[in-house]
Amino acid sequence: MSNKSKSSTLPFKAETRQLLNILIHSLYTDREIFLRELISNASDALTRMNFEMLTNRDVLDPEAEPAIWITTDPGARTLTIRDTGIGLTRKEMEENLGTIAHSGARAFMQAAEKDATADLSNIIGQFGVGFYSVFMVADKVEVASHSYKKEEPSAVWISDGQESYEIRDFDKPDRGTQITVFLKEDAAEFTSENRLRELIRRHSDYVAFPIYIGSSTEQVNRQSALWRQNSQQITEKDAGDFYKQFTLDQKEPLAYTHLAVDAPVQAYALLFIPGSAEHYLFAPRKQDGLRLYARKVLIQDYFRDLLPEYLRFVQGIVDSEDLPLNISRETIQSNRLLMQLKKLVTNRAIDMIRRLAQDKPEKYIEFWNLFGRYIKEGVASDMADYDSLVPLLRFHTLHHPEELISLETYLDERRPGQQQIYYLLGEDDRSVVYSPHLDVIRKRNLDVLLLTDPLDSFMLLALKNYKDIPLVNVADKNADLDDLSTPGEADTPALSEESKAGLIARFARQLANRVTDVRASDRLIESPARLVDPDNSPTPEIQRVYQMMNQPLEIPRKVLEINPRHPLLTSLATLPDNSEIAELMIDQIYEDALLIEGLHPDPAGMIGRIQKIMAAALRPEN
Ligand code: ADP
Repeated sequence: MSNKSKSSTLPFKAETRQLLNILIHSLYTDREIFLRELISNASDALTRMNFEMLTNRDVLDPEAEPAIWITTDPGARTLTIRDTGIGLTRKEMEENLGTIAHSGARAFMQAAEKDATADLSNIIGQFGVGFYSVFMVADKVEVASHSYKKEEPSAVWISDGQESYEIRDFDKPDRGTQITVFLKEDAAEFTSENRLRELIRRHSDYVAFPIYIGSSTEQVNRQSALWRQNSQQITEKDAGDFYKQFTLDQKEPLAYTHLAVDAPVQAYALLFIPGSAEHYLFAPRKQDGLRLYARKVLIQDYFRDLLPEYLRFVQGIVDSEDLPLNISRETIQSNRLLMQLKKLVTNRAIDMIRRLAQDKPEKYIEFWNLFGRYIKEGVASDMADYDSLVPLLRFHTLHHPEELISLETYLDERRPGQQQIYYLLGEDDRSVVYSPHLDVIRKRNLDVLLLTDPLDSFMLLALKNYKDIPLVNVADKNADLDDLSTPGEADTPALSEESKAGLIARFARQLANRVTDVRASDRLIESPARLVDPDNSPTPEIQRVYQMMNQPLEIPRKVLEINPRHPLLTSLATLPDNSEIAELMIDQIYEDALLIEGLHPDPAGMIGRIQKIMAAALRPEN
């Protein structure tokens, strides 16, 4: 240092000292974030330099590569971060490194005082105190800098982060800032290049300028974030490669979408519908949520507040220049920007699904099989997105048992004059088609949505209509089944009123404790009997919801409706009152009806009775 060197020691302002005190004496589990703060500052300085050079070439070192270099000296326990950014003049050092942005410091301290256990490392960024986080790991810091302004002399700012700092003349011929961190004894880990590399990949991978470590000329960070490019520049292959690297899923994503907007929030997003529903065992992404960057700094790996709960299967990255760095501590309701961002991201995700359904119906079936339940959950739980989600629903139906159709297709195919959308709740796709509730439906050639997923009942609590056409449960005894000119009534004549009454009385006597009522029905054709709900009972959807919520499962007492035209019943009516076989058959008819409703607690228990009935059928006198 030359003789005429000017050196001045200045005290930190009271607020700054207080802040430093908090920083240095707090226990930081996350003190590694100092590195991302310094890199983020370097990156800001480079961005500002780029901006300056758009209009001004008369700067120091106009040809310098805009980049960040990190070197370490384990022997001296130092770490150095150098950039070719805009630099700091002596005055700027005093203004920017000597004081904490006034309002920022106060706000930070208030936050820290109010909540002693607060995770300070997360709050640091927002108040413009990022630089000071370096004192979590440093005994002393030297910031040597040469401003881009040629005529400004270079200088160095030195402090131990205690009471004061010193600014001295310092010969740094090239443009930019070099920060030397004299690490505390217990922070020696930060001289390990591998450790730094890991931290950069984790927190600063997409900083927009290259970062080099040690003597290597290979850049550590991936730098040019795919999602920060133009949508047109991102090919399907790029997106697929990125997805696979991001999730370690071997499969291609089913769909992706890219978002780049400036208003109302500046944001980029790259979202994916995964190719698999299960997280691969060693996948880096083990939780739901999006990776969130604010101002190129990784804020959270699994940020769940940008999508509604039901879209938690969506993978991807959101990156915004507008969000404060402490965003992960805010609640979504308290932050207007976050709310707007959530809306943008959600709409885009739904749009991605909608376009998949529209443009690639076959892939959409794949999607539906993997993630259809999430859409049902959304219909059930999210009023805001209800209208966009309902068209995305797909169903197996009586007429399309192997396919999956939309409500729109159902309506397109409905019979002329059909005023309702029919559905049937059942246990599984195979048994549901045997339901006695379908008798009249079949006769009238109506189609029925076959709902066999436990979630369907939840969904139906919200899904009551589609395009003003009501959804109707065919098992509802009051269901008005669109009496469209039913082709020819049943061939078999019904029982006389008298024997019908006798038969009903006999059923009622025998099943007295098991049903609430027995009556004849004109809704049955192929089936001998069915169970329907008594008046005033909760709807079948609600009953199922209770069942799913592990309410004790009792066999609900229902109304048994019998088919007075069915051969089983007409024959039964001829058997004498004390007939043993009649008794067996009544039990069996009731339990068959239970079984088909998915309510039978012990189907195998029926075998003994069935064998007795078979034995009776084989007796020579029959
Ligand atoms: P913030 O970056 O949020 O403003 P910091 O405490 O991290 O707050 O930094 C304080 C100021 O110091 C910055 O605003 C900037 O003016 C200056 N600064 C920090 N690092 C650098 C750097 N590498 N190059 C130029 N200026 C810097």
